Amino acid sequence: MSAGRDVKEAYLSVRQDMAAAALAAGRGPDAVSLVAVSKTHDAPHIRPVLAAGHRVFGENRVQEAKQKWPALRADFPGLSLHLIGPLQSNKAAEAVALFDVIETVDRDKIAAALAVEMRRQNRWPRLLVQVNTGREPQKAGVDPADVPAFLQRMRDVHGLQPAGLMCIPPVEENPVPHFQLLRQLAGAAGLAELSMGMSSDYAAAIAEGATLVRVGSAIFGSRPAARPGPATLPA
Ligand SMILES: *Cc1c(COP(=O)(O)O)cnc(C)c1O
Repeated sequence: MSAGRDVKEAYLSVRQDMAAAALAAGRGPDAVSLVAVSKTHDAPHIRPVLAAGHRVFGENRVQEAKQKWPALRADFPGLSLHLIGPLQSNKAAEAVALFDVIETVDRDKIAAALAVEMRRQNRWPRLLVQVNTGREPQKAGVDPADVPAFLQRMRDVHGLQPAGLMCIPPVEENPVPHFQLLRQLAGAAGLAELSMGMSSDYAAAIAEGATLVRVGSAIFGSRPAARPGPATLPA
């Protein structure tokens, strides 16, 4: 069996599981979007998923996305590219030019840099705020207690409209309480988008109200272990 067919079948199986999880939670089949996380995988691995009609992808590094996606975008109109990794303010211009959704806004410096670039480029990616639900010192994200104030500063100081929240629960913990906390915070703030759930727990996240799940290895297979994980802060 070719790698391409493996990836396509894995993709279709994730879609099926997602639909079943949505149904079980009494949610419509379109209530949850799949962000196919293609980081570290090259275009030949991504194309089968594009060919199957999928158009929403996640990358965690601006440089890597910039190398891979412009050519694919030319071949597959209607793409939506999500930045799911930490953003440095000196990459804000490239991020605004490249991404349709930036899921990892977590401090004023980034919000300010994005605001400047969005106006300058007249491009308006949707913005999610990353929340460090586990309060892990090494992990990016706003402290849960600071979420309301940060959202307010995004609006009032930076003139940005956050669309929702995103979290990466601690690896060793049951993710469900983290999903519930994220939903609670978004509900209190009147935000619609909830990006939570990865390969190992997207069904649980859908049960807790995820509107976006970010699934990588369950579709594309395992990644080389050498790269720093998603939790690391920008240097
Ligand atoms: C890599 C990554 C994912 C996907 O992880 P899998 O376990 O491979 O599904 C999801 N979210 C973020 C932020 C990531 O960096």
